[in-house]
Amino acid sequence: MGLKQRWAGWSGTRKTLIIVLLLVLFLCSACGLITLVGISRYQLTPPTVEPGIPPPPSTPVPPSTPVPPATPVPPSTPVPPSTPAPPPTPALPPDVDVSDLIEVHIIDVGQGDAILVRAPDATVLVDGGERNSGVVPYLQRLGVQKLDVVVATHPHADHIGGLIDVLQQIPVDRVITNGQLHTTLTYERFLDAIADARAEYIEVVRGDVIHAGNLVLDVLHPESLTDSLNDGSVVLRMTHGSVSFLLTGDIEKAAEEELTATDIDLRAQILKVAHHASRSSSTPAFLQRVQPEVAIYSAGADNRYGHPHDETLAALAVVGAQILGTDVHGTVVVTTDGETYQITVEHPSSP
Ligand SMILES: [Zn+2]
Repeated sequence: MGLKQRWAGWSGTRKTLIIVLLLVLFLCSACGLITLVGISRYQLTPPTVEPGIPPPPSTPVPPSTPVPPATPVPPSTPVPPSTPAPPPTPALPPDVDVSDLIEVHIIDVGQGDAILVRAPDATVLVDGGERNSGVVPYLQRLGVQKLDVVVATHPHADHIGGLIDVLQQIPVDRVITNGQLHTTLTYERFLDAIADARAEYIEVVRGDVIHAGNLVLDVLHPESLTDSLNDGSVVLRMTHGSVSFLLTGDIEKAAEEELTATDIDLRAQILKVAHHASRSSSTPAFLQRVQPEVAIYSAGADNRYGHPHDETLAALAVVGAQILGTDVHGTVVVTTDGETYQITVEHPSSP
């Protein structure tokens, strides 16, 4: 019996079963072929399996799975244990101890005085200019978080006015004055601000020493108070290594004569010129005792007092001091490591 005749003789159900069987056989063959192709492709681009060991045929890489790169990704923190980390590049020569650097800022507050002393472990402010003269924004720009010591040299508004702003906005540990009273509203508010800030209040006289961190400020004046507020100014000498600063407030001729009559060491490379370089101060005898290399005065541009006075500038020139003023140069910063000092000014192009 031929195949055709047999086919004709089978029932419809049997024919359907045979067709389905044939289809299954065909599909299986096709699947096998695809599987083989897949395996061969997989073996051509082995991801992590070592060569020579074929991957198991039951787990071919599906086409959607990205093939990992042949070279393994290096670890994110490649620190070879045998190679130590290189030392950080020093910002300064090895013989300079960064912790010894001190900055003294004669801040441009217009007509007034404001001097900031910054050491690694302490911050001191001597006077604060008039109210709203910019000392608080200046301190904030520098990132000053707190002041260990605030000194009010004397109760005039161009020295204590800005200290009210400081006490209201920046934490202060100690406030130091000469104890002289004044009758102005500014002075009253200054006392209120000290009380509100809960700062310790200290009055000093000649011979006292102010410590703040490693900073040491010797109180040279006043020994006693007179009717002159200017002449009662607290005079401070700060020595760091072999570099000295003399901060004179607004003392005038009488106080300078009192100081030159003593054997107190007045020498200082850096002099904060007394009383905004007024002719009332900076007598030749006093300047001879100080022997300043640099004389820095604070005065407002075109101020109504005519500061600095020509006679004073001439007297400073006679002792050979380099003269800088906040009215001309803006804020002046002296940086010292105790051996040498450097000066930077806000307006370097000025004469
Ligand atoms: Zn003044």
